[in-house]
Amino acid sequence: MKSVSTPSFRSALSDTFNRPLRSLRVSVTDRCNLRCQYCMPEEEYAWLPRETLLSFEEINVLVAMFTEFGVDKIRLTGGEPLLRRDLPTLIRLLRQQAPLDDVALTTNGILLKEQADSLYQAGLHRITVSLDTLRPDRFKVLTRRDTFDRVLEGIEEVNRIGFTGLKIDTVAIKGFNDDEFVELIEYGKTVKGEVRFIEYMDVGGANDWAMEKVCSRAEILLKLQRVYGPIEPIEENSSAPAQRFRLGDATTFGIIPSTTTPFCATCDRSRLTADGLWYLCLYAKHGLDLREPLRMKDFATVRDRIRSGWQHRTDRGAEERKALESSRMRGQFIEINELRQDPHLEMHARGG
Ligand code: SAM
Ligand code: SF4
Ligand code: SF4
Repeated sequence: MKSVSTPSFRSALSDTFNRPLRSLRVSVTDRCNLRCQYCMPEEEYAWLPRETLLSFEEINVLVAMFTEFGVDKIRLTGGEPLLRRDLPTLIRLLRQQAPLDDVALTTNGILLKEQADSLYQAGLHRITVSLDTLRPDRFKVLTRRDTFDRVLEGIEEVNRIGFTGLKIDTVAIKGFNDDEFVELIEYGKTVKGEVRFIEYMDVGGANDWAMEKVCSRAEILLKLQRVYGPIEPIEENSSAPAQRFRLGDATTFGIIPSTTTPFCATCDRSRLTADGLWYLCLYAKHGLDLREPLRMKDFATVRDRIRSGWQHRTDRGAEERKALESSRMRGQFIEINELRQDPHLEMHARGG
């Protein structure tokens, strides 16, 4: 593809709530090698057609245009991003973009052992591994795959190679892993990883979600306090979703309270799907098509869509979902029939 000529200026954008555009999550595939119950409980899905998937060069060009409007953080995600062949090539391209000061990856870890070194050599800044349990039998039930050991081996390899800033993301689910929070923090210490507990969200559709399964920030803290004693919140001036805490021995951990305490007011994140649709919110039902003008080399239209899309952004998805609780209307976010018609509605297609 002919490279896009990038203007030398960067114009920061604000949406209707004065939120800047800073962080872009780029899904590089909608495929996955796990079937986590809260994300992809079915075996088969309506997959994005192959010919619609953006090439690395196309992703790189789009990211370059996003940086013109203030994006300086990229997180590669999926589906499972390590299933995308030759991902380090994309990372190398992105690392050549001066405005990007953070290129990170979220992975389920299954393929990390083989790929950690080449990701590091390509210049990846940080890795987050999703790990919800330390019990192989639970892992098998949750993910419908028997690959627990490979995740741990992948995490060990990340350490051995010298990556810093490892995070371990755990979806906290009542009745499933809410007796493991201390074990997970202790495990995190052994691998120099900061554990972040994520409240179970009702994103997507076929996700087995129910309010009763949400283990709230308050409940997570209570469980940890029983063992560790007083827990100190860390004061940070940050738009990052995780609220961070410190234990008596200086170990830190985070909680992402998306369900009970949404942080939409400071949200600077948006998502690009593997086929080039841009979603302004995790809960948005429609995305803006950037692939079509990109493939027509109509870069002015791509830029216009980014600019006007963000300037008109009114999304506060998690807050709106929470507001439904008072009228007891918080149930399935998307009906199964809708999901079959539009695969983009699934969490695994838009990147968590
Ligand atoms: N496959 C990779 C992984 O699992 O790390 C990247 C994509 S996955 C969609 C990104 C993150 O979304 C994971 O940490 C996963 O646990 C989280 N996630 C998926 N469904 C969720 C849900 N219903 N509630 C909370 N987090 C969820
Ligand atoms: Fe699990 Fe991530 Fe795959 Fe979803 S995309 S099924 S969270 S591994
Ligand atoms: Fe941002 Fe939407 Fe998530 Fe709120 S729900 S924090 S607006 S992505």
